[in-house]
Formats: sequence, structure tokens, C-alpha cells
Amino acid sequence: MNFQINQIATEDLTVCMKRTIIKLGIITDIMSYIGDDVIVDILDKNVWRELLTTSDLMILEELYASARMVQQKHYGNKIYARGLIEFTNYCKNDCYYCGIRRSNRDACRYRLTEEQILSCCDSGYKIGFRTFVLQGGEDGYFTDDRICDLVYSIKTKYPDCAITLSVGEKSRESYQKYYDAGADRYLLRHETANPEHYRLLHPQEMSCENRKRCLWDLKEIGYQVGAGIMVGSPGQTIDHMIEDLKFMKELEADMVGIGPFLPHHATPFANEAAGTVDRTVRLLAITRLLLPEVLLPATTALGTLDPLGREKGILAGANVVMPNLSPENVRENYLLYDNKLCTGSEAADGLRMLDEMMRKIGYEISLERGDRSGREVRVWH
Ligand code: SAM
Repeated sequence: MNFQINQIATEDLTVCMKRTIIKLGIITDIMSYIGDDVIVDILDKNVWRELLTTSDLMILEELYASARMVQQKHYGNKIYARGLIEFTNYCKNDCYYCGIRRSNRDACRYRLTEEQILSCCDSGYKIGFRTFVLQGGEDGYFTDDRICDLVYSIKTKYPDCAITLSVGEKSRESYQKYYDAGADRYLLRHETANPEHYRLLHPQEMSCENRKRCLWDLKEIGYQVGAGIMVGSPGQTIDHMIEDLKFMKELEADMVGIGPFLPHHATPFANEAAGTVDRTVRLLAITRLLLPEVLLPATTALGTLDPLGREKGILAGANVVMPNLSPENVRENYLLYDNKLCTGSEAADGLRMLDEMMRKIGYEISLERGDRSGREVRVWH
């Protein structure tokens, strides 16, 4: 058996979704042969376990090469940049891992006004951004009416832009209102698909069941939906990650946010170990093979953990970056974890730097809307 880079490019990738051919260097009972090729069923949980745990570098190289081929088949060498606006760090929740949890009395709280948020969009639009991601804690000040007003104002001014909301768990009715006001996409990491693990990470009043309910509601309403996890969150096992992959596949997530858990000094998890780059990029690559057209960010947390983290993420199949459009003076207060990568530079400068980073590894930044390949997109009037 030889070790050439695999033959995926010549395959029909919709078939590859079910059966990804990876020429692997070892023979185990999870593999079978067609001629010289080792056939791996990417929907097989034993394969995920093998890929998450193997120490065989040849296998990992093949995994990343396969993920890149699938990513390039659908998106070429484009890396979509989304303009991220972190518009409030007030939060009613008390998640044990999060630096903006309500019990953190040291957090320097802020919320942007509607004018400030629109001004972030204005400057982002001028630079060329065509997706705005509005993310925040679950802040009671932002009632449904306020969120709808905001979304509607942005959408009316920039009908050619996609709006992504990431404002946590709401009722189905609220999600419907935001959608009707013009929101296109919704990011809500499920954090973990396993209820016991979920309980380790969250206080009693939150539940895995409700988190998943939100995602299914969002999907049914018509949003492009993003789920995801923190890699290496306290108590996480390989079995949990396998459950996460299964859940994201069942959901047919349009977007998946996978970044390392990083401790924050003022949380119950202050002394817990951070997740690793290695585990994160393996999960990114498996996710790319499992959901070939998924929009997959190389996260800020990955860039925080390793100066080359985002590049490593892209080379494992990620295809999105989310530079910060928030006003510079609030960026350091949206501190979910310690030492958050925070360039403090103007959005345009940040974008130029990102483009240089991407070019060095053979990719380029694209500012277009960048909807999930193959997905029908709602026309906004
Ligand atoms: N409130 C919204 C929600 O619940 O989805 C959006 C804000 S929330 C802070 C965004 C994401 O940050 C969470 O889904 C979580 O995965 C991530 N996050 C929070 N604390 C983190 C930490 N210590 N390390 C890495 N990621 C973290």
C-alpha cells in the first residue's frame, strides 16, 4: 500500500460524504479495501474514534488533506470573513466556563447603542463586509422588539448583507420574529450533546434538552443554523465528541463553531486545563468530511491558543474567519476567556493582516455573503 495523497478529488464528493476514501497507513478492523485503496466510512463512529485518538501522523496528514480537498471542492481557496459585532456582555446566564457569566462581578459590563451598532455596520460595509454577526450575552435589555428593530434597520439599509444572530436561547416565537425582521443565520453552539456533560458545564436552570430544542426550532423556521462545541471543556471525553459529531450530522448544521475551551480566571473553571490545538483541528477536519458544505470558522480561541492556530484550522478544512468590528474600546471587555486575541487594530487593518495570513497558506479572504454552498437563500425585499 502506498501513501500518496488520497484520491478524493476524482471522486464524486456527494458519495464521499458516505464513504470517504482515505489511503491510510495502517490496517485496522474498521477499514476495508478496494484494490489498493483503503475505504473508510466517514459515518462510522469507530472511524471518528480512530481519527480522534490515533498518534499515526500519516493518518492525520491524510485526514487534513482530505478535508482540504472537500473544502476546496465547495469553496475554492476562499475564506469568508464575517464582521463580528459583540454588542453586549451583560448575561443572565451563569455558565461555569464563561467569563461574562452573571456571577463575574469583575467583568466590566457594556452594551452598545443601536446607533453604535449601526455605525459598526456602516464602517464594515464600506470595507466590503457582507455578513454581520451580532453576538452577545443574554441581556434582558435587548427585548425582542429591540432585537427586531436592530435587525430590521440593518437589513433595510443593507439588503445585500446577511445577518447572523447569536444571542442565546429564546422561545420559538422570538426566533420567528427575528427571522421575519430579516435575520438569516443563527449561531448557538450546543456546547455538548450529552446531557450529563451539559450538567457539568451549566447550572441547574439550563438544559441540554432546551439548547437542542432551540436549534431544531431555528432549523424549522428556515435559518441557516450553527451548532458547535468547545474542545477540551472540563469532563469532555472522546465519547462525548462522538455524540457531538452525531448530533451535528443529524441537525445537518449549516455552520459549526469548534474552538478550544480556554479558562477564564473568574469562573469555577479557572484552574482547568485548556483544550488543545491538535484535538481541535482533528475535529474540524472530521466535521468537514461529515458535512462537506459546512461553514466552519477557524476561531479566535484557536488563534489565542496558538499564534498559527487559525492557519492550522484552515489547513484542516475551516473556511471562515470572524474579524472584530466592535468599537476598539469595548473589545477587551468581551472576555470569554483569558488572554483573548484582541488586535485592537482598525477593522480594515485587521482584514489586511488576515488576508496576508491567508495568502501565505494559499487562500484569500472573501467578503461576499458566503452562504452555505448549495443552500437556497431567502430573497429580502
Ligand atoms: N449568548 C450566546 C450563546 O449562548 O450562544 C452567545 C455568546 S456565548 C459567550 C458564545 C460562545 O462562547 C459559547 O457558545 C461558548 O462556546 C464560547 N465560550 C464561552 N466561554 C468560553 C471559554 N472559556 N472558552 C472558549 N469558548 C468559550
